Amino acid sequence: MHHLLTEEQKSIRDLARRIAEEKVKPVRARYDEESIFPRDIVEELARVDLFRVFIPVEYDGLVEQGYGVTNMCLVIEELSKACAGIVLAYAGTALGAFPLLLFGSDAQKKKYLPSIAAGKRLAAFGITEPMAGSDAGSIRTTARREGDHYVLDGTKVFITNGGEADIYTVVALTQPEKGARGASTFVVEKGTPGFSFGKKEKKMGIRASITSELIFEQARVPAENLLGREGMGFLVAMKTFDLSRPGVAAQALGIAEGAMDETLRYAHQRHQFGQSIISFQGIQWMLADMATQIEAARALIYGLTDRIDKGDTKNVGYLSAMAKVFASDVAMKVTTDAVQIFGGYGYMSDYPVEKMMRDAKITQIYEGTNQIQKNVIGNHLVREAGRLSG
Ligand SMILES: Cc1cc2nc3c(=O)[nH]c(=O)nc-3n(C[C@H](O)[C@H](O)[C@H](O)COP(=O)(O)OP(=O)(O)OC[C@H]3O[C@@H](n4cnc5c(N)ncnc54)[C@H](O)[C@@H]3O)c2cc1C
Repeated sequence: MHHLLTEEQKSIRDLARRIAEEKVKPVRARYDEESIFPRDIVEELARVDLFRVFIPVEYDGLVEQGYGVTNMCLVIEELSKACAGIVLAYAGTALGAFPLLLFGSDAQKKKYLPSIAAGKRLAAFGITEPMAGSDAGSIRTTARREGDHYVLDGTKVFITNGGEADIYTVVALTQPEKGARGASTFVVEKGTPGFSFGKKEKKMGIRASITSELIFEQARVPAENLLGREGMGFLVAMKTFDLSRPGVAAQALGIAEGAMDETLRYAHQRHQFGQSIISFQGIQWMLADMATQIEAARALIYGLTDRIDKGDTKNVGYLSAMAKVFASDVAMKVTTDAVQIFGGYGYMSDYPVEKMMRDAKITQIYEGTNQIQKNVIGNHLVREAGRLSG
């Protein structure tokens, strides 16, 4: 699929690949072990302008038209080959920026996007709450209008980049009695009085990523920080996920590719029964399945992002859901088989595949679990069935 990329996209990919090799790989085990947030890698990504690749030129980015989703996915894929935790400082920022890119006014974009493009300020997106995960329509955080401010009250959980980001796009209820139809999205800046950070999660994987609570206690947010109009909160969230889910798919693809590279090297070097284990047909068949699944995931993701960037957003939710489900299941299967091919050594943290297997799991869970993605795909098919039946 790499033949579909433009010269500019190839250089973005190569730049991200170089950073992954030179900067991320040497620190990934320690950052994972000690749960270190990768500020130094963020600075490096900013220095080489990789935060600009999903921001329009008018706001100091590099995207001339469309959303730069292919660019974003290439960076995420390459960094994820090395570490799917470290990449989240970047991917979580793209997620937090999409509501602004999609629904921000020119003034809001001018205020926030240039600093994101420069990598000076990270972003985050907050919808999940203790009682509202898959059922995001059950959120309880409220935003009450008071003069020229909205007053936010409530708690968001599991927010990627929580505490490290400066710009938060947050969904809250402006008309609680209307449920999901009464939700709105706001830009909330770190440092806003009444806005603080709670529990930092201890996780199975992606430990170089920070996942925290956002706590709003009478947090006063200027009314001008409302994105779009009141009541559009869920539309903002759903359209955001349509563009960000290919990023999760790219993260999963990168994890699988990273595991495949490690496994090929190991299977060639490891000898048992007087021969390299890659000479066993049983191993070759596992490798063949892994390579085939990776190639299929790559085709699905690049085909989708190419369509999005060319402005063909028909069925984008349906296709993004498919890309996310497929690629994350591939990442889980490929990393599990990678550990198997490494044998006992694969189970030890001396080799990177056990971390890759731990990291892969989250791609089946966040930004909508794979069961929820299958609901999206299923709902589309039910509508299609109705259309076919007249
Ligand atoms: C590390 C991490 C980072 C995250 N980052 C963010 C972030 O930056 N911003 C943010 O807003 N959120 C974030 N999340 C939240 C994430 O999107 C949710 O955890 C996810 O959507 C699932 O919600 P839940 O955990 O409440 O699970 P639940 O919704 O309670 O689901 C439990 C189980 O029930 C299944 N299930 C639920 N409903 C259905 C259904 N209708 N049909 C079939 N099965 C169903 C689910 O698939 C799952 O298996 C993050 C989560 C994690 C773990």
